Amino acid sequence: MSDRVENVTIVGGGTAGWLTAMIINTFINTFREGPAVKVTLIESPKIPTVGVGEATVAGMPSLMQQLGIDEAELFRRCNASFKVSVRFGDWAVDGRGKPFAFYHPFNFPGTVGGYNPAYHFNRFGPYGGDPSITDNMTANSALIHARKGPRALNGENYEKSIGYAYHLDAGLFGEFMRDVALSRGVQHIRDDVVEVFQDETGAVSGLQLEKGGRHPVEFVVDCTGFKSLIMKEVLKEPFISYGDYLLNDRAIPVQLPHRDPTKIEPCTRSTALGAGWVWRVPLYSRVGTGYVFSSAFRSDDEARDEFFRHLRAVGDLPTGAPDPDVKVIKMRIGRSQRFWVKNCVAIGLSNGFIEPLEATAIYSVEMAARWLVGHFPDKKGSPALANRYNGLMTSLYEEIRDFISTHYHTSNRPDPFWKAARYDCRLSESLQERLELWKARLPEITDTQDQKLFNFWNYLYVLHPKGFFKDRHFPLEGSIRHEHWQAFGRRLEERKAELLRTMPDHYQLLANIRGDEPLQQALNLDGLAKPVFESRASVRPTISVPTA
Ligand SMILES: Cc1cc2nc3c(=O)[nH]c(=O)nc-3n(C[C@H](O)[C@H](O)[C@H](O)COP(=O)(O)OP(=O)(O)OC[C@H]3O[C@@H](n4cnc5c(N)ncnc54)[C@H](O)[C@@H]3O)c2cc1C
Repeated sequence: MSDRVENVTIVGGGTAGWLTAMIINTFINTFREGPAVKVTLIESPKIPTVGVGEATVAGMPSLMQQLGIDEAELFRRCNASFKVSVRFGDWAVDGRGKPFAFYHPFNFPGTVGGYNPAYHFNRFGPYGGDPSITDNMTANSALIHARKGPRALNGENYEKSIGYAYHLDAGLFGEFMRDVALSRGVQHIRDDVVEVFQDETGAVSGLQLEKGGRHPVEFVVDCTGFKSLIMKEVLKEPFISYGDYLLNDRAIPVQLPHRDPTKIEPCTRSTALGAGWVWRVPLYSRVGTGYVFSSAFRSDDEARDEFFRHLRAVGDLPTGAPDPDVKVIKMRIGRSQRFWVKNCVAIGLSNGFIEPLEATAIYSVEMAARWLVGHFPDKKGSPALANRYNGLMTSLYEEIRDFISTHYHTSNRPDPFWKAARYDCRLSESLQERLELWKARLPEITDTQDQKLFNFWNYLYVLHPKGFFKDRHFPLEGSIRHEHWQAFGRRLEERKAELLRTMPDHYQLLANIRGDEPLQQALNLDGLAKPVFESRASVRPTISVPTA
């Protein structure tokens, strides 16, 4: 009998379940010699998916391309839009106590005269009109201010002039992945797992389905969301809370129509409020927004009121519109001690979660599934594979946690929540060491070379605007040339001008990719829009008008 694992069962049909099914099926089966690994996904018809998770990171297009996804179809099916940056609003205050915004873009400059240009910026200051480091290093915020997309109108799928990620409708993305996976041979069972059987070693041997009887298991992936049905409830793997590091443990999501569907910002906004922050993800069809907050500093009702006040202040909720009906999501922040136990791997919310500030969870699903492919076991299941896998996942979690901690630790907002986040929260030793080092020199490539997602530029983009390097000058600054900086600045200004000239309006680009007839002009709907709570169909931009 073959030692090969022939069957993989995935429990859970959210983003984690379907993306994992796609990744395993594509990367293991496409060129496999001999019979394909049979991938079966079991999904409860009763338990809904979490229904959020709509912003992604810059690696997502290349994953979609490798999975053989037609990108135009992805845009149509998921009402997707482009994301070229995250705008952090009000995360810090200036010397006069006034909150300001900065961007965290997806692009990085090369070297200037052989040196990290952050040294030039630090010594010579901005070369152009804009004082921010990102505007002196990348063209991203110039495109955002002009509301331009990252690809020419006649560009091919996946072509890009600057790096981008997607905003996607979470429900539609799951359905899209499901349809593609089913068309490629993944089996789908809509039933509830009501009992999990283990053999004498403790490995999972079968699943009792409510209607379908017993389903045998060779290898199982737990994608059951926060419930963590197998990893937590059956295998009893301990959960390591990150509550000492990060305070936020609640979220209130809401979906709203665009005020003007022809004006779609190609960036995610994260705006700080009194006890957390609000995400704003503009899809093609609507806006997804939500308040991530700490229950130690706001009751659910207080958070709701504060959130709605914010939505009205920024115009996302028109004055006079009723309060949206919302529910509060409890977030379990931290991670499973191990991610692979016996013949079970937990992927997605079932293995843990870190607040969605940098939209890292879908990326973590991708990496968890890719690494499972890279460590795919035979029936004997060498413990070395699981050990290595657990090490990789642990370091990914710690990397993300530390980057999110950096945002909070360097904020100077005066509110009690923000002070607690800055002064009372734990920082990992490795982050403390790096922050100390960066008082003596700027972040450089070797500081983050073991990291998967955030490199030294990500740290520079987040630290610089908040004054972390203010009034600090470093020995290496004595070795750089002003004319190199000026030449770099001129080239970047030319590049910005070229992009602004050649890149199309973001909305026009999306309509073009989808094959929609673009709306000719913005409709003035002030005061007429009402919240959209259900978005399942791929539709034209939502324009809510009053009915008689
Ligand atoms: C507030 C918030 C905002 C977020 N924002 C982002 C973001 O911007 N970007 C990002 O990358 N990520 C984000 N995330 C994370 C993202 O939503 C998740 O990583 C992603 O949706 C994957 O969820 P999941 O599939 O693990 O779980 P779920 O969506 O909860 O799916 C669980 C599945 O398990 C099934 N199930 C449960 N029990 C059983 C059972 N007994 N039998 C059979 N099936 C069962 C359910 O039916 C469901 O299909 C956010 C999360 C939260 C909470």
